Amino acid sequence: KAAGKRQWRHYHPSLQAGLIERHELNEHLDNAVAVADSAFALHYQPIVDLSNGELVAFEALVRWPQDQRAMMMPDEFIPVAEESGQIVRLGAWVLQRAVADGEGWQRLRGPSAGRGVPPLRLNVNVSARQFREADFVDVVRDIVRGSALERGSLVLELTESVLMNRDERVHADMRELCDLGIGIAIDDFGTGYSSLSYLREFPISILKIDKSFIDGLAHSAQQYALVEGIARIAEKLGVEVIAEGIENTAQRDLLAEMGCPLGQGYLFSHPLSLEEADALVRLHGRLTV
Ligand code: C2E
Ligand code: MG
Ligand code: MG
Ligand code: MG
Repeated sequence: KAAGKRQWRHYHPSLQAGLIERHELNEHLDNAVAVADSAFALHYQPIVDLSNGELVAFEALVRWPQDQRAMMMPDEFIPVAEESGQIVRLGAWVLQRAVADGEGWQRLRGPSAGRGVPPLRLNVNVSARQFREADFVDVVRDIVRGSALERGSLVLELTESVLMNRDERVHADMRELCDLGIGIAIDDFGTGYSSLSYLREFPISILKIDKSFIDGLAHSAQQYALVEGIARIAEKLGVEVIAEGIENTAQRDLLAEMGCPLGQGYLFSHPLSLEEADALVRLHGRLTV
């Protein structure tokens, strides 16, 4: 017993291995969420202006370091946190941490007002489970009001699973977020049950075209036509477009050619540690390739 629960698995190596692992991960996650500041880290991937490589925004992406070597990626633990509800606390931590880091970059750059440059923006992922919480908007409002982040520089990335729920509360919450100067992006657009009617129904400011569309851009006339069509409709509606997962210059060139303004991907930069992101901001970094 003194050896703790971990020992138990040795005695039942084959017993419902999957379930036990899930259970352990849950417990492990509970402990981590309780001390989130020391357990998790945020990495930041640059979003750039495709015409000149200029840094426009950072997307916050959560990481869970396990020891000196291993880093657990969000695809492994976010679904578990969503199922258990831990995502609510974890998500609030992510938002608060990212806003604090965003304030730091805006301080480094100096006020954008009067300089004719837009403020550096910050994109934060929000899961449907988090958005559904009754006090979600209150949590966001408290964090934003308590921060020095320039108005208009925070963007929340939502997936279509939020929009599929055509509840009046979803509409009301989005309006409130807009009133706070917060932008709403649809993440992974084109996967799942994408519907262009979301753009009409909700106050969407940004559409992020999923990587799966960008992958085939250079080889498929059909993919090209789809992306170009989406970009054109979005532009007409005053919705900004970000192409996700740009990995080569051919894709970058095609996107620029069709007038897609913004993009992110390994071609420009992998997600950066806070120190690396700070350095990029200090150098007024342009990510030219
Ligand atoms: P996402 O929001 O669509 O984020 C983009 C993912 O694509 C990131 O993976 C990023 O590292 C990866 N990526 C960016 N450029 C490229 C590229 O050129 N090639 C390839 N192959 N991949 C690229 P990551 O960091 O593993 O995150 C995966 C997903 O986990 C995110 O997808 C998002 O849905 C979720 N996630 C991450 N952080 C958070 C968070 O703080 N809260 C919530 N709710 N979800 C998060
Ligand atoms: Mg995202
Ligand atoms: Mg995405
Ligand atoms: Mg994704």
